[in-house]
Amino acid sequence: MSPGANDDVLIVGGGVGGLALALSLHQAGISCRVFEAVPEILPLGVGINLLPHAMRELSELGLQDELAARAIETRELAFYSRHGQFIYKEPRGRFAGYDWPQLSIHRADLHDVLLTAVKQRLGKDAVQLGHRCIQVDQDASGVTLHFDKTQPRTGKLVVGCDGIHSALRRQLVPGEGLPKYSGVNMWRGTVRWPAFLGGDTMVSTGWMTVGKTVIYPVRPGTPETAGRPLINWVAEIERPEAVRQDWTGRGRLADMMPAFSGLKFDWLDITAMIESTEEILEYPMVDRDPLPRWSLGRLTLLGDAAHPMYPRGSNGAGQAIIDARFLAGQIRKLGATEAALAAYETVRNPATAKVVLTNRTDPPDTILREVWQRSGGKRFARIEDVISAGELEAISERYKKVAGFDRETLKTRPSFV
Ligand SMILES: Cc1cc2nc3c(=O)[nH]c(=O)nc-3n(C[C@H](O)[C@H](O)[C@H](O)COP(=O)(O)OP(=O)(O)OC[C@H]3O[C@@H](n4cnc5c(N)ncnc54)[C@H](O)[C@@H]3O)c2cc1C
Repeated sequence: MSPGANDDVLIVGGGVGGLALALSLHQAGISCRVFEAVPEILPLGVGINLLPHAMRELSELGLQDELAARAIETRELAFYSRHGQFIYKEPRGRFAGYDWPQLSIHRADLHDVLLTAVKQRLGKDAVQLGHRCIQVDQDASGVTLHFDKTQPRTGKLVVGCDGIHSALRRQLVPGEGLPKYSGVNMWRGTVRWPAFLGGDTMVSTGWMTVGKTVIYPVRPGTPETAGRPLINWVAEIERPEAVRQDWTGRGRLADMMPAFSGLKFDWLDITAMIESTEEILEYPMVDRDPLPRWSLGRLTLLGDAAHPMYPRGSNGAGQAIIDARFLAGQIRKLGATEAALAAYETVRNPATAKVVLTNRTDPPDTILREVWQRSGGKRFARIEDVISAGELEAISERYKKVAGFDRETLKTRPSFV
């Protein structure tokens, strides 16, 4: 019998969400298999932040120590104006009293830790590479997946974890078209660079009208790198035209400048750091409108396939991981049934829709927008003259509640699986 025949759950897409689902189902004693389109896994992408709600789930999977060894435990989140003036900072993760850390990590390291664990725990056939799913059929007894080049596979349920350009979502919502452009273009890169602000701060500067940056270390320094950590940076600016939506699309320094020139502060020369980056990636900030439903019978969606969101609150990977854990919990309780998918959707659809919409209007970088607008983009003598500390803290706390990582909720809610 071929691998994957009659598994309970067929997972389409071996990204962050699909692998977290495979590990969670295995932990719950449910058989599953992952079908991934690419023939070979490459260390792609740049930095990702794992907030305490995602880290609680990864720690319940026994992966916290391995992730922490490859990541930077974030101590502080800080905001500065375009002129380098301090606006606001707050402790993060365990430094803010959570039971779980906030980790800043390279996507390739996160993916590698998940993939290695899947192979070790579920076996080397658990992830089938080179399987691009093009169509799902279902009837009362199960589902059949069809691939572009390989034989069909059958199972009881199928979960589309196939990312922002999901083929399964296209089947559910024909004619939806491309994700929606926000009007903001993003360039990203990683570079070995001297540590700044204690070596464990995530910092955000400026505003998107004139150029916003998000910068944080994702890998510790080593003797080979002369102690320099790997720094992840993102540069964002409003642009009328969207570039092609491709995670590996190359960006050009010339297109970013002069918006990001002259950003030399006493704690970091941002412009020099960007100019020293060998490979710059370019991606438009896009999302999709929340769907009223994302399950149909034995098929459901998870992660970016279900609810792609702007990367403005460090929640894309985290919400995919939480979906995975919650869905595994429902399948454990209700079996590999349509009822389990319905129970998953009833809770996770409205919860993630709120995050998608809040990322459009009121994510944590609202702090930068408010300061930019109220100060007219000019230098200010004291931040208190522009906005009160209480108002800044309230913006940050509001988002934690929407995204499900305020300290009390996280401490007291039962485990999903
Ligand atoms: C190569 C790559 C690089 C990325 N880089 C970044 C980054 O630098 N920063 C960031 O914030 N986010 C990045 N992302 C997105 C980020 O991983 C997700 O936003 C988030 O982790 C949610 O994960 P997901 O599992 O829903 O989607 P993803 O992690 O995007 O995983 C989707 C997976 O499905 C596979 N797939 C797609 N179509 C099919 C199909 N028809 N059949 C089978 N498999 C299919 C894809 O190859 C991919 O492995 C990247 C995604 C990819 C795929």
